[in-house]
Amino acid sequence: MSNIVIIGGSDAGISAALRIRELNPEIIPTMIVADSFPNFSICGLPYYISKEVTCWENLAHRTRQDIENAGINLLLEHTAQSIHPERKQVNVVDKSGAIKAVDYDKLIVGTGAISLKPKIIGIDFPGVFFLRWMPDCFKVDEFLNKQSPKTAVIIGAGYIGMEMAESLTKRGLKVNVVESADSVMPSVDVDFGIKIREMLTQNGITVNNNIAIESIDKIGDQLIVKGTNNYEMATDMVLVAVGSVPNTTLGQSIGIDTGIKGAFKVNIKMETNIPDVYAAGDCVETWHRILKSYTYLPLGTIAHKQGRVAGENAIGGNKEFAGTLGTQSVKIFDKVVARTGLNENEANKAGFQPVSVDFETWDHKVYFPPAEKIYIRVTADQKSKKILGAQILGTYKTEVSKRIDIFAAAIFHELTVKEFSDYDLSYTPPLSSPWDPVQMAVQSLERKL
Ligand SMILES: Cc1cc2nc3c(=O)[nH]c(=O)nc-3n(C[C@H](O)[C@H](O)[C@H](O)COP(=O)(O)OP(=O)(O)OC[C@H]3O[C@@H](n4cnc5c(N)ncnc54)[C@H](O)[C@@H]3O)c2cc1C
Repeated sequence: MSNIVIIGGSDAGISAALRIRELNPEIIPTMIVADSFPNFSICGLPYYISKEVTCWENLAHRTRQDIENAGINLLLEHTAQSIHPERKQVNVVDKSGAIKAVDYDKLIVGTGAISLKPKIIGIDFPGVFFLRWMPDCFKVDEFLNKQSPKTAVIIGAGYIGMEMAESLTKRGLKVNVVESADSVMPSVDVDFGIKIREMLTQNGITVNNNIAIESIDKIGDQLIVKGTNNYEMATDMVLVAVGSVPNTTLGQSIGIDTGIKGAFKVNIKMETNIPDVYAAGDCVETWHRILKSYTYLPLGTIAHKQGRVAGENAIGGNKEFAGTLGTQSVKIFDKVVARTGLNENEANKAGFQPVSVDFETWDHKVYFPPAEKIYIRVTADQKSKKILGAQILGTYKTEVSKRIDIFAAAIFHELTVKEFSDYDLSYTPPLSSPWDPVQMAVQSLERKL
């Protein structure tokens, strides 16, 4: 049992391959990758477009050579066309059109996701872009370089829409964001969204909420974007960032069961219902650690962990995916917003008795300037007193993302509010206080409980 084949060479695929090599250096896994960008950080695409990353090659976590040196057999620009579980083969086609069969003992499917293409009339006009892959990013960059657009409409105010609003503003465009929900960043509570919206406005970005885009027309070089509530905007380019959908057509053709949004159903060992076929990453449903049920959360952090579990189990291991908490942080201009676990609304729906506090304080000792304000909302369960979730907003300098990670660690281990004060966190005046802001927030919640 040594023939491990992985379809997909992004976060899930590479994590599986590297774990296999780590555990058994005698096994040389084969990684089939449709494009020529294995192990690229698609999370970094907005920063290449903004030119904060000056060279696209730098987005590679590892070069092709690094991957091959790690003992992985790389089939680049090979698309897996069909899978034949009865004879344990994957048929691949290369860019010349030549087809060959690749044998497997165990197969890991990490085909990821694709950009969601909403039903908008005119969405295929030139000048309308999506952002998922390196070629998408090159198309946007080329358009910016050659056409010098002055204005952009971004459809979708999720984290990619927000990162791109900053990115295009940095490239000198006047950006108009349109979102169907009533605030930006629907992954955090509305009042956090309102603060982010204010900050976008201060940076020259116009935000339109409660508008669903219905059509795009082309008049000369201009795109006319129209939506509900009489929204109409003439623009030079449009970026559609309304989410992603699991890329599961290939797996479905062999009968892999699918669930939420068409993602593959897997167990916590990342096994599908087809013998010897595992799946991981954006193409699968994800086990939620607090909800104790499956959800769909396409994040690189999760894809890495699931790929590692799939790789280990494909070579005889018995590893379980511990589940996600939906931990996520986003930087928008000089602000960072982050969340982990459940907000009050989600906790209510899940049958908890949530109690929350809002806490505002300085990120470190005020006598060491410049201290900055940090906003924390933390939620716990009235009955068990366990922490359920947290949201934080602060400037880039206030260590929002590492502070949310403290909450993530606590929630992962089911800490109560009382136990949270026992955490031995670091302190020096330029960075924190003897009680870190996260502990002050939880102590405030403890009093309320
Ligand atoms: C702009 C942007 C920013 C992001 N920022 C963040 C972030 O800050 N933090 C975070 O956690 N996540 C972020 N994400 C999400 C993260 O990038 C994804 O969750 C992650 O890439 C998923 O990895 P994956 O391996 O499951 O799938 P994908 O990255 O979708 O990769 C799928 C792989 O499968 C290959 N493939 C597909 N079909 C075939 C086939 N038939 N044959 C051969 N190969 C095939 C593709 O070529 C690719 O290599 C971001 C995503 C985008 C688009």
